[in-house]
Amino acid sequence: MTAAHAEFTAPAVSAAHRLDCDVLVIGGGTAGSMAALTAAENGADVLLLEKAHVRHSGALAMGMDGVNNAVIPGKAVPEDYVAEITRANDGIVDQKTVYQTATRGFGMISRLERYGVKFEKDEYGEYAVRRVHRSGSYVLPMPEGRDVKKVLYRVLRRRDMREKITIENRLMPVRVLTENGRAVGAAALHTRTGEFYVIGAKSVILATGPCGRLGLPASGYLYGTYENPTNAGDGYSMAYHAGAELSGIECFQINPLIKDYNGPACAYVANPFGGYQVNADGDRFVDSDYWSGDMMKEVVREIDSARGPIYLKVSHLPTETIDTLESILHTTERPTRGTFHANRGHSYHTHDIEMHVSEIGLCSGHSASGVWVDENGATTVDGLYAAGDLACVPHNYMIGAFVYGELTGSHASDRAKHTPAPGELPADQIADAHELIYRPLRNPDGPPQPQVEYKLRRFVNDYVAPPKTSNKLGIAVETFERMRGEIAQMGGRTPHELMRCAEVNFIRDCAELAARSSLTRTESRWGLYHQRDDLPDRDDARWGYHLNVRKNAGGAMEFIGRPVAPYLVPVEGLNHIPPQDRSVIAVEQPRSGVGPAVTVGGTPGPVPDDTRPETPATHEPLSPRIAELVRMESVTVEELTDYLEDEDPAVRRTALATLTEHTPDGFDSALAAALSDPDAAVRRTAVEALRELVEILSAEAGFVAALHEVADSEDHLVRAGVLDLLRSLKAAEPGLFDRALTDPHHRVRIEAIRGLVSLNDAPSVAVAARDANREVRVVAAQGLATIGDGAATLRELSTDIDPLVRAAAFTALAALGDAETDGDVLRKALRDSAWQVRKGAATGLAVAPGPKTVAALAELVTDRHGDVRKAAVQTLRPWSEHPDVAELMALAGHDEDADVRAAAR
Ligand SMILES: Cc1cc2nc3c(=O)[nH]c(=O)nc-3n(C[C@H](O)[C@H](O)[C@H](O)COP(=O)(O)OP(=O)(O)OC[C@H]3O[C@@H](n4cnc5c(N)ncnc54)[C@H](O)[C@@H]3O)c2cc1C
Repeated sequence: MTAAHAEFTAPAVSAAHRLDCDVLVIGGGTAGSMAALTAAENGADVLLLEKAHVRHSGALAMGMDGVNNAVIPGKAVPEDYVAEITRANDGIVDQKTVYQTATRGFGMISRLERYGVKFEKDEYGEYAVRRVHRSGSYVLPMPEGRDVKKVLYRVLRRRDMREKITIENRLMPVRVLTENGRAVGAAALHTRTGEFYVIGAKSVILATGPCGRLGLPASGYLYGTYENPTNAGDGYSMAYHAGAELSGIECFQINPLIKDYNGPACAYVANPFGGYQVNADGDRFVDSDYWSGDMMKEVVREIDSARGPIYLKVSHLPTETIDTLESILHTTERPTRGTFHANRGHSYHTHDIEMHVSEIGLCSGHSASGVWVDENGATTVDGLYAAGDLACVPHNYMIGAFVYGELTGSHASDRAKHTPAPGELPADQIADAHELIYRPLRNPDGPPQPQVEYKLRRFVNDYVAPPKTSNKLGIAVETFERMRGEIAQMGGRTPHELMRCAEVNFIRDCAELAARSSLTRTESRWGLYHQRDDLPDRDDARWGYHLNVRKNAGGAMEFIGRPVAPYLVPVEGLNHIPPQDRSVIAVEQPRSGVGPAVTVGGTPGPVPDDTRPETPATHEPLSPRIAELVRMESVTVEELTDYLEDEDPAVRRTALATLTEHTPDGFDSALAAALSDPDAAVRRTAVEALRELVEILSAEAGFVAALHEVADSEDHLVRAGVLDLLRSLKAAEPGLFDRALTDPHHRVRIEAIRGLVSLNDAPSVAVAARDANREVRVVAAQGLATIGDGAATLRELSTDIDPLVRAAAFTALAALGDAETDGDVLRKALRDSAWQVRKGAATGLAVAPGPKTVAALAELVTDRHGDVRKAAVQTLRPWSEHPDVAELMALAGHDEDADVRAAAR
């Protein structure tokens, strides 16, 4: 490829570079990376195209705090998950597609672990799933989720995969090419050089993520979106123009955000730690922190009411818990989040987090709007597949993107085995794509892309975002139709600007699809996602259908209703939705006083040669040694030795990062050696790298010895890290954890307890229960409950001077106590002035059923603190056949706090 010239001119159509492959994957994010790996493992010759750089592109690069939807055997069952998603989606679900995620998610977690991705486990190595949905526990934290993309890239660049997968970064397809209704390739722009590419493929997988740049964020910044801003709806537009059906486009994505910061508020992360959403009066107002349109509707109603604004409440939590939360949310989820709060002088210890809602987007991963696919990810166009946030599999999130990446990779490569390679590619479609890309060069002084995009997306906010009405949606359709001309006039001079202009076309297509679909579904559904204020009721009789949209043979947008497939899992209250009559029906878009249904997409014309000089780009100079490292595509430890010994710590850190990314033979010993580096930041990089890679480390003698050698490092991060690693590898010398219980740093002592718990060493954990540090005593109490031994120690801790330790001890007694010894103490503790103690005692009383406990807990059902009321209700709930308890449950069913009400149900 040649470099971009200062004076950029459009290449001729005939100058197009041609590439060929068995399976073309468009988009190298979560789903695309997995699709490429799977297709290659299945023997296909794969071409992976990414408009950014696969190493750090897509939603995963924005951080990942956990798997939102893991069905782990023994912790949850697929049928419950399928029912949960059916409820969250008001019944409009093809359960077969969701069932794939439910049943294959666990296998995918194991596959990712083999690659080196870490998921949170308890001391015994069991997955530590947490409950956030209305029923079932599906959230599996990923303490080092920020590294997932790095791990995937490492696997993609392994020698065996390199032979099968060609990655072309900065290459952006704009159209899928079709022949006789079959996908045969794509046409693309190189976003750095401006060259034109055509690709011939036997199967094509679209994995371009959501349309994140649809609505305009409250900040007004074009790229300050909730979603990764390179996801501009490219795949929705490409699938539509290729003739594929799209579904549920009217079911928007709207997410809770931190106010004035475009990152998720993560109530569902904080929830298992004891955080929750409250209004300005401090009352909880949502039944569950699991995202759904209903929850978002409640959120907006509360913000707009006299009880607004709303907050994610965390300041009441213990210090250690807040520290843990901050470390997840400020590093894994989004690194800038900590800086944002710090610049305002806010800390979670003292300030709750003000929340708001995001701009609208199209995204099946979080709601349901996507390309219509079957349970293998096949679209309605032969040879075209869709996976990830782009494919209509509701609430699929990260694990669903991986699962559908795998499914499409496998099916597309199977299909390629018996499909002939395309010969000549369709010239008319190539010419149209060329025109779409290079048109702005003809008019370099035309309206610039940022201006046009801002205007387009502000109209989306004004007329398409909920609450929706026929009048507003009608204006939207008219506006987007008009803007087709303005977009054709946009000016651009450089390959980068051409990319941005092409994206505006995708956004316009998505805006029109969103407006017309919303206009056509004449009812309200999915809470805020499709709130029609002019038609406020849900109408299952008329609208128990998937509303699908496609481009018809004449080039116009047409709607069809697809019946909901019979449920695999019955769901009470929704079983009437799948209709007896299985016919697909034509659905007319209602008239709104504006123009007729028309084709989306621009009209092609000739490409001129008049172009202007490109503005030269300016770059920060990079240290040449670091630049050398960053450029390395494959490395051995020997090649890195010089860098690992460089006198500049920044170079040594980058060398460690390179080592971590490529994991060549001997990487583990090289990382272990860096644990003794004189520079603290280098040591921290080495500890973090080893913890990140723990799943692929082996307890080989030399490596284990190297870890033991630094077990007494002066750096507490190294000492704590070594304990954690040796525990995970089950390779600690006898006595190591015991000795570490006297370490001067409490974080090391906490790791020592985790090690002792993994060995079921209750007597040593009991020693730690006398530690001077409160957090250590809390962890010791929890550890004893995990082991299931140490009631006597817990009883000592239940008289601790610190209320948080007493609370932990009382909670642990639920597992280890007995009615006779502990009943009275627990009942007395219900009157403690610290709410945490009352909560702990209410939980612990599960061991002492009977009239005295019911009477004592009855008082707590009206406690002033919501968490205490909830704990009391949770303990009482299993005894509901007792008439007094049934009465208390009925009372709690009307509690002002939604969480308490949910616990009483
Ligand atoms: C901020 C945030 C936090 C999240 N947190 C969680 C979480 O904690 N747990 C969870 O389970 N899920 C979470 N999710 C959801 C999860 O990350 C997504 O569902 C999943 O990663 C989507 O994968 P994807 O492959 O569809 O999209 P992506 O990973 O975004 O990949 C799409 C890729 O396509 C590329 N692309 C787009 N257009 C083109 C084109 N024309 N040509 C070439 N390349 C193109 C993009 O550059 C991008 O790399 C989160 C999402 C976000 C945005």
